[in-house]
Amino acid sequence: MNTFTKTVPILLFALLCGISVAADDTTAASQILIRNVSVWDGTSDQSIAGQSVLIEGNLIKSIGENLPAETAATVIDGRGRVLMPGIIEAHTHLALPVSPAKLRTEDQTYLAALSVKAAELVLMHGWTTVRDIGGPSQGLAKAIDEGIVPGPRIYTSAMYISQTSGHGDFRGLNDPHPNMGGPADAVGQRYTLIADGPAEVSRAVRESLRHGATAIKVMAGGGISSEYDPIDTTQYSVAELRAAVEAAEQWNTYVAVHAYTDAAVRNALEAGVKVIEHGHLLSEDTLKLLKKKGAFLSSQSFGFVRQYIKPGQSGRAGKAAEVMAGTDNLMLTARKLGIPVAFGTDAFGSMRAYESAVSEFGYRLRWFTSLEILKQATSHNAKLLELTGPRNPYQDGPLGVIQEGAYADLLIVEGNPLEDVRILEDYENNILLIMKDGVVYKNTLE
Ligand SMILES: [Zn+2]
Repeated sequence: MNTFTKTVPILLFALLCGISVAADDTTAASQILIRNVSVWDGTSDQSIAGQSVLIEGNLIKSIGENLPAETAATVIDGRGRVLMPGIIEAHTHLALPVSPAKLRTEDQTYLAALSVKAAELVLMHGWTTVRDIGGPSQGLAKAIDEGIVPGPRIYTSAMYISQTSGHGDFRGLNDPHPNMGGPADAVGQRYTLIADGPAEVSRAVRESLRHGATAIKVMAGGGISSEYDPIDTTQYSVAELRAAVEAAEQWNTYVAVHAYTDAAVRNALEAGVKVIEHGHLLSEDTLKLLKKKGAFLSSQSFGFVRQYIKPGQSGRAGKAAEVMAGTDNLMLTARKLGIPVAFGTDAFGSMRAYESAVSEFGYRLRWFTSLEILKQATSHNAKLLELTGPRNPYQDGPLGVIQEGAYADLLIVEGNPLEDVRILEDYENNILLIMKDGVVYKNTLE
């Protein structure tokens, strides 16, 4: 049977069923050979010099000393530099490029344009995947995956869920409550679903999942950027949090909570929450409980906002100081107990926040070695992403590692980041090659 008679019936069948098929699925995937690199695989304690990595399509096909490639393959000479997995950011908000108040007043297309720019910026930092833990980034993720705009892989949480007056309730004092007779707040509800009581919480989780959330973000305690919830407040009862966990688990994914304090985190752990975001004020006992339950800790240095915090400030600046005072204790206790801390920044609110997020590498050196930070930002963060189970949008292979069958998300770096991770902060000069999904987005080696 020739190709025509073989292909036409398949195409007709596909059209009738509404299935799209590639125009020509018989062509072999293209290959790229990266030779002469020192490979750090995301898990080892050192890199191995004199290696080659063969990429076929969007995956790593093989790794070795002298790999043959097709004659037509593109060959990149790594000049002996370090090849490492692309960075994974565990906590960002690409759909929140302005302050929460401005989200309600700025034009939606302006906000979308800023988010597109932020996504490109993050990719050019060498951050090839982000866990976007709150905010409607699902449309941006789709446009990136379709190749329309450049950006990282996005694991979106879509709308986050907050109780009335919780950390996600950004209404002004004159705004009526959307669930108490007030008009539906179309803009606000793109970002926050205000829900009280287990039934409303279940509904909100299902609504966020309907919009493509890969995991669910719930506000379980006081926050900095919200006006009307002191840091010490616990938000949601265990029963409400359990309702969120059940609804997420019915979708075979998980709940992550925003929480700083022992009381808020203990409620969440009791309800079956899998990931604690922040946790800056946790005691050693609560961290031990987190470890016993097998939950993840996704925390941040908040380094890039430290310069704005002065002693004695009130309002949100005062809340930020209150939280940051716990950072040293949190990071050092987590390290002592052997609890890995996911690498994330919580960048949102301005383009400058995304730009300066790279300083997270250097701030973490107060508590961790360069090698520990690199493992947090690659193989460890990849484990966190895998909690999304069947909701994981990227299931062709593992992320955050260099091994056969893994996604070809790769960086070639000037200098040795295993000795000083801060070289990744000067990404313009020190990141020589950025590849995501087998596609080269930057290459200054030629
Ligand atoms: Zn956040």
